Order: sequence, then C-alpha cells, then structure tokens
Amino acid sequence: MTDQMQCITLAQRPFGAPKDEDFALETRDIPTPGEGEVLVRVHYMSLDPYMRGRMNDAKSYAEPVPIGGVMEGGGCGEVIASNDPSYAPGDMVFGMFGWATHGIQPGNMLRKLDPRVPITTSLGVLGMPGFTGWYGLTELGKPKKGETLVVAAATGPVGSMVGQIAKARGLRTVAIAGGADKCALATEKFGFDAAIDHRAHSDASSLRKELAAACPDGIDIYFENVGGKVFEAVLPLMNRFGRIPVCGMISGYNATEMPEGPDRFPMFWSTVLIKHLTASGFIISNHFDLYPAFLQEVVPMISSGQVAYLEDIAEGIENAPRTFMGLLEGKNVGKQIVKLI
Ligand code: NDP
Repeated sequence: MTDQMQCITLAQRPFGAPKDEDFALETRDIPTPGEGEVLVRVHYMSLDPYMRGRMNDAKSYAEPVPIGGVMEGGGCGEVIASNDPSYAPGDMVFGMFGWATHGIQPGNMLRKLDPRVPITTSLGVLGMPGFTGWYGLTELGKPKKGETLVVAAATGPVGSMVGQIAKARGLRTVAIAGGADKCALATEKFGFDAAIDHRAHSDASSLRKELAAACPDGIDIYFENVGGKVFEAVLPLMNRFGRIPVCGMISGYNATEMPEGPDRFPMFWSTVLIKHLTASGFIISNHFDLYPAFLQEVVPMISSGQVAYLEDIAEGIENAPRTFMGLLEGKNVGKQIVKLI
C-alpha cells in the first residue's frame, strides 16, 4: 500500500464560474486513524451543486471551505484500517471524505453500505440527492393524485426522484431540462408525461407558453431546483393552494451579484398571497431522521424497476474540478460521480 494520497484543495475563491486556478491537486501523506476513527480508500466521490456555495466566503447554512482546505464532499469506499470495533477492513462505507482518494472519519460519522446494491447508489439515487427529492416532494409538496407537478434539472438525481415518486402517486409530471437529449431521457427513462427544453427559450414568457400547453390544468406543485427564468415562467401558472418546495436555485450559483429586479418581488409575493401558495425552504441535512423511511419506500421501487436512475461517471481525481465546472453548466447527464480507483 502506498503511503501517499491525493486531494483537491481550494486554491482561491472563484469570482463567477469556477476556473482551473481556483483548485489545486495536492499529494499528501495518508493520515493515521486515531481513537475511534476509520481510514477509508475512496472508490467514488460525489460532485454536487451545493459545493459551489462552500467555495464562497459568505454567510450560509454551512461554513465555507477555507483557502487551502480540501473541497468538501461525500464519497464511498473501502475501510483499510479501523479503530472502531463496528468497522473492519474490507467494509464498504459512505462518509464525508472530501475531494480525496483517502479519508478519515470517526466511526459514528460513517454509514455501512448495503452489499445488494452498487455502491455508487449511496451518492445519488439512494444517497443525499435522492433523499432530497423524496423528502421535498412528499413532506413539503404534499402530492395528491390527479395534480400536476413541474420540476427542472429533471434528469438529475434530485429532479428524477421527484418526477418518479410523483408519477407513482398518480400526478401528471412535467420535466424541464436542458436540451433535446435530456428531454427525451426525461420522458423515456424517467416517465415524465411531458418535457420542455428551457434552453430553447430565451425568456420566461416564451417558456411559459410552452409550459401552459403542457399543464392544461395549471401547476399544483413546482419543485424549485433552479430559480431564474424557470421560476418566473412557472409562478403565474400556479394553481390556488399550490406548493413550492424550495430546494435550490442553481441558475444563480455562479452569479457575481444579486440578480436585478427587487422591483419584481411585489409581483412574486402578491402571487403567493392571492393564490394561497405555500413556499417551503429546506436543507436536507436537517431531516435525516426520515432517511430510513425513504429507504423503506424507494429501495423496493429500485429493485422492481419503478424508480430508474442514471449516473455520469468521470475518472480520476485530477478531473474533478473540470467535471464540477461542467455540472454547474448542465454538462452532466445524471448523477455526477468521479471514479477514483
Ligand atoms: P443535477 O445533477 O441535476 O445538476 C444540476 C443541473 O442543473 C444541471 O445538470 C442542469 O440541468 C441544471 N441547470 C444548471 N444551470 C441551470 C440554469 N441556469 N437553468 C436551469 N437549469 C440549470 O443536480 P442535483 O439533482 O444534485 O441538484 C438539483 C438542485 O437541488 C440544485 O439546485 C441543488 O443545489 C439542490 N439541492 C438542494 C438540497 C437541499 O438540501 N435543499 C440538497 C441537494 C440538492 P439541465 O441541463 O437539465 O438544465
């Protein structure tokens, strides 16, 4: 076993879209696990949109990554040394190891993986993103049979879970995705009733026309993943007593200043008021008490084929920064993962 590992650190804070110079690839000694700690060789690491927020020195729900610090993130791999009696070398686990080939975590921060499913599912469909879609839809969206749901980033791990659970509960599901290929995936692989390419529309009103045609009974649940033009297109089409689980706003993650238009806020809020809408923000890390309920419902749906999933696997830790830049631009097709071994 080599005694060196590789990791990606934050070299400088990005201004706008991240660039190569914002990251550094470093070689370090593999650390030795202390009391109660476990050393893991990471096989696959996850890339997620929230990591863009961690690169900013801004007040948020989590601390930023310090300059020179290892980029934050989850990964799955094999225990190679353990000072926790619950784990033995060879066990496959999930943990927050950062963008790194090896990582140490206290045993109580790890999750053992189910050997019956591929380990990559712990990063996507059965991991944090899939759980996010399930939680936001079922707990906050409160879906009812016969209603209409709209979700953007619809072929990603959050959006595809939202669409498939909504479909299983008898809703009409409308996807918004970037490009013809992703729209075809949305309907053919994930069973959406209709799919709309947001990139084919330069403004919200043109997108709204196509959406209105796809949602003849209006929209009861808008699962908010992207904000911006899509949100503006959707809002006037919401039905009375509609629900908006506010999950993410990726269209603004690389923004260098607040988008224009505080003068539009009264229009947004008057729609919320007049239509009795409920908008509920959430951060999934505060809701893991429901994770077992999610697994109980979704694992059988994956085994039976009722829930499909798609993974986009890049190779090599050195390619993680470029792959992450692509994720923020929609270049990923499915859950973005990086294979390290
Ligand atoms: P995805 O794998 O779906 O990747 C992001 C996708 O966003 C891209 O592929 C692209 O899809 C879409 N996108 C990028 N820019 C734009 C844009 N300007 N307008 C519209 N769509 C755009 O991501 P996830 O499924 O992992 O995450 C989806 C959302 O959920 C994100 O906003 C994320 O931050 C949020 N999230 C929130 C959590 C919470 O706790 N609240 C937890 C986990 C995720 P396309 O090409 O189809 O447009």
